[in-house]
Amino acid sequence: QVLIKVEDLYKVYNNRLHALDGVSEEIRKGEVVVIVGPSGSGKSTFLRSLNLLEMPTKGHVYFEGVDITSKETDIDLHRRKMGMVFQHFNLFPHKTILENITLAPIKLLKKSKEEAQENAMELLKLVGLEEKANTYPSRLSGGQKQRIAIIRSLAMDPEVMLFDEPTSALDPEMVGEVLELMKKLAHDGMTMVVVTHEMGFAKEVASRVIFMDEGKIKEQGTPEEFFDNP
Ligand code: ADP
Ligand code: ADP
Repeated sequence: QVLIKVEDLYKVYNNRLHALDGVSEEIRKGEVVVIVGPSGSGKSTFLRSLNLLEMPTKGHVYFEGVDITSKETDIDLHRRKMGMVFQHFNLFPHKTILENITLAPIKLLKKSKEEAQENAMELLKLVGLEEKANTYPSRLSGGQKQRIAIIRSLAMDPEVMLFDEPTSALDPEMVGEVLELMKKLAHDGMTMVVVTHEMGFAKEVASRVIFMDEGKIKEQGTPEEFFDNP
């Protein structure tokens, strides 16, 4: 079952740089797709095109069969089904961890405060950070902040999670705890698209690896096909 389909995607910056140069791809439900490639090859642009954080210059993006690049489509309605995690955690600094997690479910999903908080506490337990509920982001380590950013996305019940170099800004000793959480999500069947330089994660967790270069998908395959081919 295809969840996201992109068709002949182009992204041109400054009228010349082809950050995406004709990319077509399908993401199926339950897949863990890892995108690798050199810096500047268009990985992040591709990822941000999936939820139209980046509007493609040309081409179409379909989410659950709906053309979300069409002007008639309410993007917000679809975008909230795609959780996104960035290199920098983007937590609201003046809100507590619990408020950070419950804000969007209350505002956008119209959940009651009680229900949103109950769900948030369950998610906090999942990552072992329930005692941090009433503290502020500045009191957390980078690894803790990133795990909070991930469960904040999960609180919106997304159909897919998009990760843009989620461990690149972390101190090395904190990378493991974030990757562990991502592995857990993958094992629970979450559909994931991950831009990362963590080849160990790609080998172990990916159902498919995509290699990008110069705005194009140059190669793809299972981790076995991908890493065993010299
Ligand atoms: P990657 O994620 O593989 O490092 P990006 O998708 O971030 O690559 O970038 C692809 C190319 O597009 C790079 O050359 C980058 O400098 C350029 N680019 C990305 N965002 C912008 C932007 N907002 N304006 C101009 N050029 C951009
Ligand atoms: P990432 O490491 O997540 O790919 P970058 O550091 O490449 O991000 O880019 C950070 C921000 O700067 C992004 O919003 C990107 O669109 C923008 N950007 C990247 N390259 C350029 C560029 N050449 N000109 C203008 N903006 C750019």
